[in-house]
Amino acid sequence: MDTITPQPRAAWVAGRAEQGASTLVVRHPLDGSEVATVAVPGPEQVERAVAAAAAVAKEFRRSPAHLRAGALEHVSRGLAARAEEIAEVITAENGKPLKWAEAEVNRAVSVFRIAAEEARRFSGDVQRLDADPSGDARLALTRRVPRGPVLGIAPFNFPLNLVAHKVAPALAVGAPIVVKPAPRTPLSALVLGELLAETELPEGAFSVLPLGNGETQALVADPRLPVVSFTGSGPVGWSIADAVPRKHVVLELGGNAAAVVLRDWPDPEGAAYRIATFGNYQAGQSCIAVQRVIVDSAIADEFVPALVEAVESQQTGDPYDRNTDVGPVVDEAAAERIIAWVEEAVAGGARVLTGGTREGTAVAPTVLADVPADAKAWAEEIFGPVLAVSVVDGVDEALAAVNDSAYGLQAGVFTSDVQLAFHASAELEVGGVIIGDVPSYRADQMPYGGVKGSGLGREGVLSAMHDLTAEQVTVFTGV
Ligand code: NAD
Repeated sequence: MDTITPQPRAAWVAGRAEQGASTLVVRHPLDGSEVATVAVPGPEQVERAVAAAAAVAKEFRRSPAHLRAGALEHVSRGLAARAEEIAEVITAENGKPLKWAEAEVNRAVSVFRIAAEEARRFSGDVQRLDADPSGDARLALTRRVPRGPVLGIAPFNFPLNLVAHKVAPALAVGAPIVVKPAPRTPLSALVLGELLAETELPEGAFSVLPLGNGETQALVADPRLPVVSFTGSGPVGWSIADAVPRKHVVLELGGNAAAVVLRDWPDPEGAAYRIATFGNYQAGQSCIAVQRVIVDSAIADEFVPALVEAVESQQTGDPYDRNTDVGPVVDEAAAERIIAWVEEAVAGGARVLTGGTREGTAVAPTVLADVPADAKAWAEEIFGPVLAVSVVDGVDEALAAVNDSAYGLQAGVFTSDVQLAFHASAELEVGGVIIGDVPSYRADQMPYGGVKGSGLGREGVLSAMHDLTAEQVTVFTGV
């Protein structure tokens, strides 16, 4: 593979490729083999990146929209042209099957394209103020002004597309961004840096810094980065929000997403197939992977065996094999924890319908039944290929079971009854309700984010552009 060389991969410091003060090693999740070494910038380089972002902020926010849109289009085209190579990089660093890595690259292509389109039309508003006597002969113009340079912190599970969801909206609104990819998976973010460096964006508009967590905490505290956009686990995300109460913090955190299958759904086998696929599609390492499966008792006898059959038909193993459905989890510690959570559920009375074992980082796709509501495999985010099935009586019990969670990212409801669909949409305490499909559905332009323990703020290209900017009003008098 051309892109993976024994040389340390350069970091991007204020738009320039630089070797670092030290290096980190990226390892393949399946066998721990070394994939690449990566430059880790030192304090002087981090300072330069932040200083450059602060210095360019005013010029950049006033730059022409067509310039920013053109740069975003260039990145979109560059990702598309190098899609095969970048998908292999993602599989090497993250271990997800190649077909899912290709899907991720395609999504990032869309994110940059959509951001380019939105950059061209993103604008303010004109308001008449004379609706009230206090506003006679006055007119207001609003514009959306970037809140300032952004610190983007990304997780390992979508190493390219979740970085894209930080970078593209920031650049679209004219906000410089310093991105910190996950230490296990910095390689595809560094390729993105290459494409950004080919554009006419000003130096300082972007940096990609593969830093450790201690250095990142210093960046979180830095007042020159007034926006922190974090995607990752709850404990880290909330600790960031607590540490910088005066900053604008966006938190895209985890969940234990539920899929509900109601008795009117005409195709329980089809629902079982979708749930099996999107419970395990990145070895369960997606914030909206199905974890809890809540099925109406009236169709449980048909649905549950179909789910077990669908899971057992999934091919596991080598992520470079195009037929592989479920690859390894990210590391041995994650695999150990997942199995420990399965064992805890079993000790509390759960039954293993299939799976429940592991070989190294390969966790067997698993279906559990009768998991106690306080077991971690039900109540916490398992982030592994494990589905926990609960049989309930009717819609109200089903929706209450979904809401009985500390999290609230997305929920899927398999119903073809429009009244039930509206009822579910009104009742569910989540950021997104997907009717007729799994909770794992996400289009990159739609508003995306959670309530409760799942986070603050919204991503999705346009929603993020709103979130990264504040409205400024100018009042004209005597008009
Ligand atoms: P993580 O919280 O361990 O790490 C996320 C990022 O934060 C990494 O870049 C990490 O290096 C950095 N980090 C860790 N500790 C830090 C600290 N103290 N200060 C500053 N930065 C720190 O998460 P992860 O294991 O990489 O990712 C998995 C988690 O991400 C899951 O909980 C998953 O649900 C969540 N996630 C959420 C979404 C979403 O959009 N809601 C999407 C993907 C993943």
